[in-house]
Amino acid sequence: METDIADNICMELQLLLASTKIHFIRGYFQDFKFDEYEAVKKCYPHGYHGVDRYGRPLYIERIGSVDLNTLLRVTTVDRYIKNHISEQEKTLNLRYAACSLAARKYIASTTSILDVKGVGTSNFSKPARELFTEIQKIDSTYYPETLHRLYIVNAGSGFRVLWKAISAFLDARTRLKIQVLGNQYQSKLLEAVDPSNLPDFLGGSCTCSEYGGCLLKDKGPWTDPEINNILQEYFSRGEKFADYEESDSKIGVDGFQQEVQTGDVAEQVAQKILELEDCLVDTKELIETLLSKQQKLTDHIEQLKKLTSV
Ligand SMILES: [Zn+2]
Repeated sequence: METDIADNICMELQLLLASTKIHFIRGYFQDFKFDEYEAVKKCYPHGYHGVDRYGRPLYIERIGSVDLNTLLRVTTVDRYIKNHISEQEKTLNLRYAACSLAARKYIASTTSILDVKGVGTSNFSKPARELFTEIQKIDSTYYPETLHRLYIVNAGSGFRVLWKAISAFLDARTRLKIQVLGNQYQSKLLEAVDPSNLPDFLGGSCTCSEYGGCLLKDKGPWTDPEINNILQEYFSRGEKFADYEESDSKIGVDGFQQEVQTGDVAEQVAQKILELEDCLVDTKELIETLLSKQQKLTDHIEQLKKLTSV
């Protein structure tokens, strides 16, 4: 009951924050179209697929099946990274908010599965290492604490050698969230994910055959029309709020977009967003502390009542 209240307040804050952020992000990425999306997915199978048992988005990457030569032919490292950032923003502002609404719980982290079948030191080439390192840098700098758990599956002896080197660079907190599993991983994954949300190639029952495979569909609460309608309502409120802020500071929409290109306003907005996110985390902690204090007080009152009634 108490966590329900904390979850509801945090969800409201999350939706409010997302509704203001989405407006700025639309401006920032308005000219970026990742037309090579399907071609990239074919040579680098990865994507969001449903939710875990708690309701967090599930992200799956089959890094062992990546065809790096084709990948670098259909896109560039720069464009891939830009796409990665826009996907991360979508998770932060759309997927988490949709998952929170669907589960009626505050959700702000992802469960990930990395299939490393066939990955070893020999096929982890320099460009692959560079891309991997760059993405890790972005994620740990700009999206910390969004990883709930990472299950690395199909880890063979080659990968384990590589893992020793990679994990040395991870902080202890992150390392604790990661489980490296061999080919007997199914029961571990099914503890965390319902079979209907887990693709068949990982031991679940989903095939998404009508979409050509599980990693092409982006299935999840964020594509549910009913949830999207509720979110749209929030987002349109955010636009009104953002327009008001701009006119107040004498920067029109056009002016704002020009400023974004120079990076000045974008930086200020990014700073503001970070502050708001910190505030959200602080608020959740404060609410939890207050609720636990309230419970202690209630218990204490009950004990006192019993004493006086004797
Ligand atoms: Zn599927």
